[in-house]
Amino acid sequence: MIKTDVLIVGGGPAGAACAWYLQRHNVECLVLDREPFPRVKLCAGWIPPDVLADLEIQPDAYPHSLTVFTSLRIAVRGLHFSLPGRQYAIRRVEFDHWLLQRSGVPLVTHHVRAIERVEGGYVVDGAFFARYLVGAGGTHCPVYRTFFQDVHPRASDTLIVTQEEEFPYAYSDPHCYLWFMEHRLPGYAWYVPKSGGYVNVGVGGMAETLKANGDTIKRHWEALVEKLARRGLVRDYSFTPKGHSYYLRQDSNALRVDNAFVVGDAAGLATRDMGEGIGPAVKSGLLAAQAIVHGTPYCVDTIRRCSLLPAWLFKVHPRRPKVKNS
Ligand SMILES: Cc1cc2nc3c(=O)[nH]c(=O)nc-3n(C[C@H](O)[C@H](O)[C@H](O)COP(=O)(O)OP(=O)(O)OC[C@H]3O[C@@H](n4cnc5c(N)ncnc54)[C@H](O)[C@@H]3O)c2cc1C
Repeated sequence: MIKTDVLIVGGGPAGAACAWYLQRHNVECLVLDREPFPRVKLCAGWIPPDVLADLEIQPDAYPHSLTVFTSLRIAVRGLHFSLPGRQYAIRRVEFDHWLLQRSGVPLVTHHVRAIERVEGGYVVDGAFFARYLVGAGGTHCPVYRTFFQDVHPRASDTLIVTQEEEFPYAYSDPHCYLWFMEHRLPGYAWYVPKSGGYVNVGVGGMAETLKANGDTIKRHWEALVEKLARRGLVRDYSFTPKGHSYYLRQDSNALRVDNAFVVGDAAGLATRDMGEGIGPAVKSGLLAAQAIVHGTPYCVDTIRRCSLLPAWLFKVHPRRPKVKNS
């Protein structure tokens, strides 16, 4: 049995941020991830500047592709405008691996399946023991499944479905485009060119609304591919998109049970307006680590609920009976 103080399940931004903070405060920990790193994570990789600031990363010191946008080109139902402000894009395959390496915490490739609460801690798959457990395993996190689905149920109307692809492409248009609510999409589509010669394109929307409209995210993906070709943004490319689903923010602070925590997508913290989840993942990972190190309460109220729009535009989602657990 491998013993440590803190087991972190999942090595994405939430797990890596938590690991980084714990390591800096001399708390022994281990990250378990089912995939060997570097691993591909479906994500457009857009990050606002505070994500780098929270992790104390100087943009100049980041050793991989870091694209800087000084504005976002936005269209809302055909109304076009430019939103000024410094924004970044990273490639997740690079960023996540680098963050984990930078934390200095060992990563064990292990698919977590069974977790038991035992005297003084947690046993994972009969092979690992720790006093604290951090669930950073994303939408399908086993820590969420084992300890949190009853106390922090996920509301089905916060589920977002996506289709996305990132690929090498000699793009000529260096702007980042976001198209909201076109063709009755309850969400938005994007084109994100990245330094180093990559493009990320995708589409995301609220699953329940799509279903209620008899619509599918695939139809919106096809509309996006047509638009990219029509506008000359991506031509003569044979797409093979993949899908992933995750939950937007609801209001619940039941994210700690005894010495088990959920952070990032496992807790469902992505912003209500943009589905921005990297920043909330990093912040929640740090807050969980602070709770372990300093004994502070683990409370995510300080994490933003919206990225660009005012939070009051969105209904608060307390726990409700209509629940979909993954
Ligand atoms: C198409 C798409 C585009 C997006 N674009 C953006 C964007 O531009 N900006 C933004 O901020 N957010 C974006 N998001 C959201 C963002 O990707 C997530 O919110 C973010 O990755 C959450 O980080 P995390 O660390 O919580 O989880 P993840 O990054 O999902 O990491 C979870 C880790 O846990 C591991 N794991 C899972 N199950 C197990 C298990 N049983 N045992 C061991 N390990 C396990 C996985 O292998 C994975 O490495 C996007 C999401 C999608 C789907």
